[in-house]
Amino acid sequence: MSSVLAAQDPQRWPVHDIRRPQPAIVDPGPGSLPVPPPADAIVLFDGRDLSKWKHASGEPARWTLRDGYVEVLSGAGDLVTHDGFGDVQLHAEWAAPSPPKGSGQNRGNSGVYLMEAYEVQVLDSYENETYPDGQAASLYGQYPPQVNASRPPGAWQSYDIVFHGPRFDASGKLLRPATVTVVHNGVLVQDNVTLTGPTGHYARPPYAPHADRLSIRLQDHGDPVRFRNIWLRELKD
Ligand code: MG
Repeated sequence: MSSVLAAQDPQRWPVHDIRRPQPAIVDPGPGSLPVPPPADAIVLFDGRDLSKWKHASGEPARWTLRDGYVEVLSGAGDLVTHDGFGDVQLHAEWAAPSPPKGSGQNRGNSGVYLMEAYEVQVLDSYENETYPDGQAASLYGQYPPQVNASRPPGAWQSYDIVFHGPRFDASGKLLRPATVTVVHNGVLVQDNVTLTGPTGHYARPPYAPHADRLSIRLQDHGDPVRFRNIWLRELKD
């Protein structure tokens, strides 16, 4: 096993272990954003309206819409899609606040959750160290990214995520765990990793049975992170 893969293996490291090796920094290059949605994509956010979203409480989405993006409104709470999804290819673009404020987990923190439970961490990880399993493009608490391909605060960044949800039998027994691939700014950082269960904080909780289709969730962690151009393609089994 390469040192990068050993550093990624959640069985080898306690959750949020600061001694876990810091992923190498890779300049992703200038990139080309936004990436237009393909013909068979479901557009969840086109920069103009939040009609596909609501708060987890059921209230209409209150985050701040402005000039082609939406910004986390601190305290308003997470956003979830009205519709549920299972296995998906998801594209999302985000930008951390500029100038940056705070450090570690308190700098540009948000998150993209698959099925409301499995977080791909959003964080300003440009010249901002934290525990590796909590930096940008980590599967929070489980897998650091293979490398740190972050752009500076204020710059648009992209996640391309391939997610296969877990499968449960009728009695709730886990048949197959969830797997995730993440490309951050065009750089492969999670290569079909197997989630240990849903996302926890200082915990790796076990799988709990849930529906086949659940919302995509964007996290309000109190920081004014911006999102735009969010679309997905549903994957057939
Ligand atoms: Mg987060």
